Amino acid sequence: MRPGDPARPTVRSSGSLLVDNIGELVTNAFGEGVGGPLGIHRDAALLVEDGLVAWVGPARGAPAADRRVDAAGAAVLPGFVDSHAHLVFAGDRAAEFAARMAGEPYTGGGIRTTVGATRAAPDSELRRNVRRLRDEALRQGTTTIEIKSGYGLTVADEARSLRIAAEFSEDTTFLGAHVVPAEYADRPDDYVGMVCGPMLAAAAPYARWIDVFCERGAFDVDHARAILACGQAAGLGVRVHANQLGPGPGVQLGVELGAASVDHCTHLSDADIDALAATSTGDGATSTVATLLPGAEFSTRSPYPDARRLVDAGVTVALATDCNPGSSYTSSMPFCIALAVREMRMTPAEAVWAATAGGALALRRDDVGVLRPGARADLIVLDAPTHLHLAYRPGVPLIRQVLHNGVPQ
Ligand SMILES: [Zn+2]
Repeated sequence: MRPGDPARPTVRSSGSLLVDNIGELVTNAFGEGVGGPLGIHRDAALLVEDGLVAWVGPARGAPAADRRVDAAGAAVLPGFVDSHAHLVFAGDRAAEFAARMAGEPYTGGGIRTTVGATRAAPDSELRRNVRRLRDEALRQGTTTIEIKSGYGLTVADEARSLRIAAEFSEDTTFLGAHVVPAEYADRPDDYVGMVCGPMLAAAAPYARWIDVFCERGAFDVDHARAILACGQAAGLGVRVHANQLGPGPGVQLGVELGAASVDHCTHLSDADIDALAATSTGDGATSTVATLLPGAEFSTRSPYPDARRLVDAGVTVALATDCNPGSSYTSSMPFCIALAVREMRMTPAEAVWAATAGGALALRRDDVGVLRPGARADLIVLDAPTHLHLAYRPGVPLIRQVLHNGVPQ
């Protein structure tokens, strides 16, 4: 059991609240209403009680409530579920970004720069930075955000990174295997031994997931398998950074280990896609989701993954920000939706589903990313009549209001 945060208990609404006069309600609830996989209801209302969705239906005939939010004919969506973010760090790498835009290639080596700054920072600075980024994401409609460690890379620094992350998210991920730190550069076997031993033991009480950067220049498939297996034995769920910089074994390793998600998926073979599609046959509880992170391709000026190929093969796709100071310093899910539609051949509906319900599946959660009775009342009122505007009007602040656990933010 992960520790809660006594200093910041979950705030839930009390009494009832009716979100009324909704022009287009995206529920993501299959089999309810019409409107394809988004489960769209028109001229709808939604009742919140005790932080949860209590009722969804036509605006005419909506039940009475203590308070009312008038959506004024706008679109209402589930809050975004950002299933991949690296928020515990210090410093930034704006100069590296500028150099890359001037022609230098991205190799992942800059991670060590952030490791140095993170180790040197006091807890208060790391906590302040996580809060700043979490709040920034919330203002843009993200009501669930996964947070990884991975810039500490010592036993103490990974444990404190996760302890701070757990103050802000239920979905915390131990990423001690982000890169091999400089002091272990000539003895990676020793580093892997430490990750599986004392570092995992110190991190696991604060983590729900374990992740490995399985890539040339980071961790090879044997090291990645060993680390993920240790994490599973400690009760953590598996996720993998895979096939970002080139083809590789990461995706199929994730499938082999029953990972909830393999992330990046930029360079995939037909066999990779077949392996992912074969997991996507059930109700989502056992599927390995392909989480695409177009902010990374944008910020490294790299070719985008082909989401169309994945969707057409029946693979469950999620979109996430990969928010981190090196390769994707954005916390904006609307930006990722716009990129997915423009650059990755997703339809607007597919991209919105991937940024909400898809992200929830990537975290194996059924209480978020969907608006049906019993789900968390995490929702967004758009400054637009339809979800289409998220891709149609890129770069425009369209999030008018956010409710988190039923509480207007
Ligand atoms: Zn990442």
